[in-house]
Amino acid sequence: MSKAQRTKFIFVTGGVVSSLGKGIASASLGMLLQSRGLKVTILKMDPYLNIDPGTLSPYQHGEVYVTDDGAEADLDLGHYERFLNIDMSKHNNATTGQIYYAVIKRERNGDYLGKTVQVIPHITDEIKRRILDLSKGKEKVDVVITEVGGTVGDIESLPFLETIRQFRLDVGSENLLNVHLTLVPFISAAGEYKTKPTQHSVMRLREIGIQPDILLCRAQAPLDDELKRKIALFCSVATNSVISAPDVATIYEVPLMFHRGGLDEIIVNRLAMECSKPKLSAWEKFVERVKSPAFEIKIAVCGKYVELHDSYKSIAESFVHAGVENNVRVKLEWIEAEKIEQQNPAELLRGTSGLLVPGGFGSRGSEGKVVAIQYAREQQIPFFGICLGLQCAVIEFARNVCGLANANSTEFNEATPNPVIDLMEEQKRIKSKGGTMRLGAQPCEIKKATKAHRIYGKELVYERHRHRYEVNNEFKAKLEQHGMALSGINPELDLVEMIELPNHPWFVACQFHPELKSRVLNAHPLFREFVKAALKCQKEKPD
Ligand code: GLN
Repeated sequence: MSKAQRTKFIFVTGGVVSSLGKGIASASLGMLLQSRGLKVTILKMDPYLNIDPGTLSPYQHGEVYVTDDGAEADLDLGHYERFLNIDMSKHNNATTGQIYYAVIKRERNGDYLGKTVQVIPHITDEIKRRILDLSKGKEKVDVVITEVGGTVGDIESLPFLETIRQFRLDVGSENLLNVHLTLVPFISAAGEYKTKPTQHSVMRLREIGIQPDILLCRAQAPLDDELKRKIALFCSVATNSVISAPDVATIYEVPLMFHRGGLDEIIVNRLAMECSKPKLSAWEKFVERVKSPAFEIKIAVCGKYVELHDSYKSIAESFVHAGVENNVRVKLEWIEAEKIEQQNPAELLRGTSGLLVPGGFGSRGSEGKVVAIQYAREQQIPFFGICLGLQCAVIEFARNVCGLANANSTEFNEATPNPVIDLMEEQKRIKSKGGTMRLGAQPCEIKKATKAHRIYGKELVYERHRHRYEVNNEFKAKLEQHGMALSGINPELDLVEMIELPNHPWFVACQFHPELKSRVLNAHPLFREFVKAALKCQKEKPD
């Protein structure tokens, strides 16, 4: 975009019901504008009072995403990073908790002396500041997309919506667009799509003083022109700006569907942005490969929060990216770790060609994970451990190969005689729970002549962390004597970051979370190679 043009602001709100895919819609919109050569960033506003989702159970909120700079953030930041292939930071997520905390701190400092501190203008000004700050990075940003969490009509999101109303006055109508994602349900008894919920949702927005410019209509199938005209008429939106968003086979098809509906063209015209035509061919090829791969494999994911797949969102997406690079559809078989404690692992893992043990907290299911890992190690099944998965692999190896009786993590048993996983000294002193883990990108030195080195093709990598416990360095020598390679080490803190078993087809684990760095057109090498090993295992031992 030309230097003279001002930053444009796009707000994405959601109506009727939650879970319509606002995060994917915002990421798709961002990706389309980026594909036209524009510099885009996205801010997620979360209307809850927690400072961040770090202290929320995965059942409440899904996965906690972690940025390079160590913020514990909403999982939508994962979609933004994957779709836009850019790194997010703590500035890309704001919660009501953070906004109020900032204002109250200022009040205590005396910054508002003499004044009554109020939602309008103090809270709304703080929200504005965060949106505007994103447009003022080192490089000029052409478009700031702000996604407002929750559904229009929620009490919690009112200050955010009020801010959007005021924002138009601040930056001018020519620099701002409101996109509303809504639901058009199909009522089978009537055999019809119903537009009333959308009309009501738009009415709620108008009551606050927001007129949507574009409606993205989620429905089972594409809306016909008559329905679009009806919605346009009742909601005062141009007919070409009522865009169908039917269910699609993969989330990665959403930007292409929006593009076919004219979304990016309408936006750049409305905002009078100078930019190129979108370049989407690599993305189109990727979607084709997601939809029709040559092979299919099953990989078992043995964890604690498996009923809610959103808890492992980035892992599931990393397998899609890695699948494409191996021309294979990876089907995930979610296994409740506690079940393995009661059942034979051979039965539970039947038909799968690899085992992944993801991150987690607390002792529930930990013994099941250890049993599953033992099975994968002994049966030569490809195994990939992430964070707690690495810790369980070390426990298993210590007990069953090194002969260290009752070896354990002090997270699960403080009185274990062999604490192979333990808290770091600094962590022992920390009592407060928010944002106090080892968080964010940290260096990891990769040992030469290891699988890790062959996979990364590098000697130094930066990966993201979120944990308190570590491999206890007192047991390093013992683990190595019995054949475990400690293939990645943090050079600054001297901590074990990666382990592997050289005498196994593929047994690799890492203390960090590689799933947080996998991108659509650039799968993470650890996932790519794990999938390759699982595919090989399936071909060699057809079940
Ligand atoms: N509970 C473990 C720890 O705190 C592992 C954390 C994780 O898997 N993210 O170290």
